[in-house]
Amino acid sequence: MNTSFLQTELKNLRDKGLYRSLRRVEGDQGSTLLIDDREVINFSSNNYLGLANHPALRAAAKEAIDRYGCGSGASRLISGNMTLHEELEDKIAELKGTEGALVFNSGFQANTGVIPVLVGKGDVILSDALNHASIIDGCRLSRSEVVVYGHCNMDQLELALKQAPVRGRKLIVTESLFSMDGDEAPLADIVSLAEKYGATVMVDEAHATGVYEPNGAGLVAKLGLGDRILIQMGTLGKALGGFGAYIAGTKALRELLINRCRSFIFTTSLPPAVMAISIAALDLVKKEPQRRQELRENSEQLRAGLKALGFMLGDSRSQILPLMVGDAARCMQLSELLLENGVFAQGIRPPTVPVYTSRLRITLMATHTPEQINQALQIFAEVAQKSDRG
Ligand code: PMP
Repeated sequence: MNTSFLQTELKNLRDKGLYRSLRRVEGDQGSTLLIDDREVINFSSNNYLGLANHPALRAAAKEAIDRYGCGSGASRLISGNMTLHEELEDKIAELKGTEGALVFNSGFQANTGVIPVLVGKGDVILSDALNHASIIDGCRLSRSEVVVYGHCNMDQLELALKQAPVRGRKLIVTESLFSMDGDEAPLADIVSLAEKYGATVMVDEAHATGVYEPNGAGLVAKLGLGDRILIQMGTLGKALGGFGAYIAGTKALRELLINRCRSFIFTTSLPPAVMAISIAALDLVKKEPQRRQELRENSEQLRAGLKALGFMLGDSRSQILPLMVGDAARCMQLSELLLENGVFAQGIRPPTVPVYTSRLRITLMATHTPEQINQALQIFAEVAQKSDRG
C-alpha cells in the first residue's frame, strides 16, 4: 500500500505553517482550564454563559439517563423520536417566536443538510465571504450556483441579486454574529434586499443564540426580523452549554426538513441526556438574564483594556474579540507565548480565516471575574513587549 502521500501532505502543511494538532485540556470548561498541569485563563471557549459546567445541566443529564437510558436507539423517523426531543423543540420555538423548530445533531449537520433542501441546480445562493465552513459545504452540496459577496457588502449583494437569473430560487445565507470576527451582519438591509428581489434568507445564529436580548433569542429576534426570515439556525453547544443544533421557522419548513433533509433523516438522534441539558439550559437562559449582562460587561472590560494597550480588534462589539496579527506563524507564536504566561487565546489561521488575517480569537464568558480580566491584560501587555523585542 502506498501511503507516502500522507507524509507529503503533512510536510506541505508544516512547510506552510498550517499544521494543526490537538491540545488536551483537563477539568471542565470553566473560566480557567488546566493545560499541561498549569492553570490558565480560558479565552478560547464558546461556553459564553458559563453553562457547560453548571450544576443544573449536570443534574438534568443524570436524571435523563436514569429515566430514559443512554442512547436514543435509532433515527428520529424510526424509533428515536423521544418525548425530550419534542419538548426541546417546543422550547426553542417559543424562545425564537417561530411556529416550530427541529433539532439537529450538530450545527455542521444542520447547515450541510438544510441548504440542499432549500435550493438545487438552477438556483442561486448568495453567501457572505466570511460564512462558516459548514455553510460553504452546504452550498457546495446543493449544486446551486454560489455567488460569494464581500463580507457584509450590501452593494455587492444587491448587484448579485440583480444579476441572478429570473427563473429559479434565490437564497441569501449569512451568519448573524460572525464567529471569527465578532461583528454583526446588517440583517435589516439583507432582509430588505431579499424582499426587493424575491429571495429567501437563512441566518446562522450559532454565536448569537443565548447572547442577545430578548431572553437570549438571538440577533434576528433582537431586530424583530423573525417573520421576515424563513430559516434561522443556531447551535446548542456554545452559549447553551450542551450539544447539537436547531432550525427554527415555519411548520411547513419543519415538515419539509423531516421529509427531505438527509443529515436529519439518516442519523441516530441525539441521546436523552443531551436533550435534557439543552432544556435545562433554555430555562436558565430565561431565568438568569444577569448572565448575558455579565458577558457584556466582561467583553467591554477586556475590549477597552486591549484597545488601550494598542491592539487592533476589528469591528467586534460582541463577546468575540479578534486580536489581529496577520502573519500565521507570528500569530501562533503569540498564542504560545500567552499560554506559557497563563492566558489561553487560540491563534486562528487560514483556511479558517482569509490569508494574512490570522488572529487570536479571544472569547469571553459570563463567569470570568474582573480580576481574571485585569490579570490577563497585564499578561497581554508583558507578552506584547517581549514579542516586539523578539
Ligand atoms: N455555524 C457557525 C457559525 C459556527 O461557528 C459553527 C461551529 N463552530 C457551526 C455552524 C457548527 O456548529 P456545531 O459546532 O454545532 O457543529
